[in-house]
Amino acid sequence: MKLLMDRILSEGRALSDSVLKVDGFLNHQVDADLMQEVGRDFYEYFKDYGITRVLTIESSGIAPAVYTAQALKVPMVILKKQTSKILNGDVYQTNIKSFTKGTSYELTLSSNYINKEDRVLIIDDFLANGEAATGAARLVEMAGATIAGIGILIEKSFQNGRTKLENAGYHVYSQARIARLGEGIIEFVEEDK
Ligand code: 5GP
Repeated sequence: MKLLMDRILSEGRALSDSVLKVDGFLNHQVDADLMQEVGRDFYEYFKDYGITRVLTIESSGIAPAVYTAQALKVPMVILKKQTSKILNGDVYQTNIKSFTKGTSYELTLSSNYINKEDRVLIIDDFLANGEAATGAARLVEMAGATIAGIGILIEKSFQNGRTKLENAGYHVYSQARIARLGEGIIEFVEEDK
């Protein structure tokens, strides 16, 4: 998606050869107009997949997911990183290893907001080693629902997340695919340029 790629080039900062900082429009401050375009792009790609729910992980997935859900005219469900006291009753839970923090956390989904008939689109900001997306997919499967696709804003294609997800049988669409990061270097996958 050219708009997102241009923004990554103009405002993104490679912190190392593996971490990209995009705090100015996605992870800390959010550009709502850009997120709306991101949502429209996911809509165009996934509109014929019969999606009934958009699912994302708090917090950076929420903005793009909400616009995607609005375009698809379906609800958006947030996977919680902490078990809230009011999230009692039936919940599905799984453990995720965090790429950026090097720690793990529990991801929780209430059974109220997903059912066996659902066809779910998982949206997340980054795809690195695929832990977050795989964990989200596990929760969807625990609920007996179907994963219709996985939509990612920024895929770091030099890491193994896509391979992991595709090997598990999931369909992945990434709007920007990064082939290489380094000090002052952000390179996209050749065919996307
Ligand atoms: P994975 O689970 O695929 O290894 O990592 C994906 C998650 O880690 C994303 O939800 C995102 O929050 C975070 N993440 C991974 N790589 C980056 C990165 O380069 N920059 C930022 N800002 N977040 C990242």
